[in-house]
Amino acid sequence: MAIASVTGQERAKAQIDAWLTTDRLPHAILITGPLGTGKRQLALELAKAINCQTPGSDACDQCGSCRKTDSLNHPNLHLLLPLPTGSRGSDAETMATLRETALDQFHGQAAAATRTGTNISKDSIRLLQKEMSFAPTEAPHRVGLILQAEAMLPAGSNSLLKILEEPPGQSIFLLVSDAPDQLLPTILSRCQRLPLRPLTVSEHRARLEASGTDGERADLAARLAASGRIRAEDVIGGETFDELRELVRRFISAGIQGTDQDYWQILEDLGGRPDRQQIEGFLQLCSAYLRDLFLVQQQQLAAVANVDEMEALQGWAQALQPARVELVAQVLDQAYDSLSRNVNPQLLLADLWYQLQRARAA
Ligand SMILES: [Zn+2]
Repeated sequence: MAIASVTGQERAKAQIDAWLTTDRLPHAILITGPLGTGKRQLALELAKAINCQTPGSDACDQCGSCRKTDSLNHPNLHLLLPLPTGSRGSDAETMATLRETALDQFHGQAAAATRTGTNISKDSIRLLQKEMSFAPTEAPHRVGLILQAEAMLPAGSNSLLKILEEPPGQSIFLLVSDAPDQLLPTILSRCQRLPLRPLTVSEHRARLEASGTDGERADLAARLAASGRIRAEDVIGGETFDELRELVRRFISAGIQGTDQDYWQILEDLGGRPDRQQIEGFLQLCSAYLRDLFLVQQQQLAAVANVDEMEALQGWAQALQPARVELVAQVLDQAYDSLSRNVNPQLLLADLWYQLQRARAA
């Protein structure tokens, strides 16, 4: 892997190449873009290229520096991201947990990556600030890699801002965020933006094939990923995804044709008191199904994501008033937004259920 191996994103890659070949890398780069655009991968490849020992403007993937960066073991690479809740400890322990959590995000199951907490603590930021202030030892630069940068709380953001205002020599910060509007404007103004665009279905498919996944599963994953909000890796991941998808399928089917009894059963199968992350996954899949319902109603069958559900989709589409489907989709979008404001997840589901029933054709 190297920067060149990142799927799509030709513009961003050309920009990076221009920075590296002219030795004019900004001190702080903010990589933005929706879910599944390859932000984290690009950030890691850029971190490798920055300190690669082989001359050239991309990572060689072979030298000691590239290998250490890949395994997040490089002494001049420093990580910042939300830690799993309840994992506080000494500085050394925190650094070990940061590395493990990041390894999960880069090389592990995407499902594991969603288990992190929601905030980047002030302590972690203070630790990064300290580490970045030393001169680099093994490589030309110290690289601070900040994942889910929007998770920094204002108090912590201010300490980061101090370093960004007067960056220590040879330090480069790479921030990654899919919600850059949640960052402090003062931080934004210190960063050079590198926006990534959503990948197409065929780009997702090519990416999955490159990592050894193909066939029907890859096609479904590529289509769902391109429809937004769902990670292709979660679809590939298998069992957990299949179970959740089956529940969502039952929820929609019963919302259109079933009774309240079905609703309570589905809630129970969701674990009785589903938490925020479960509901988030549930809503993401609901949203993919609703988008498909829309497409079926408009006869745009080629664009449907849940290709293996065409028959069910056509049945549902007939049982719903077209104008009402749009309303359900709106309620779903609002539900998704409310999740980040700590609205009771079960209330959101109940509301969605009610809207689906109202959408039934008379
Ligand atoms: Zn190298």
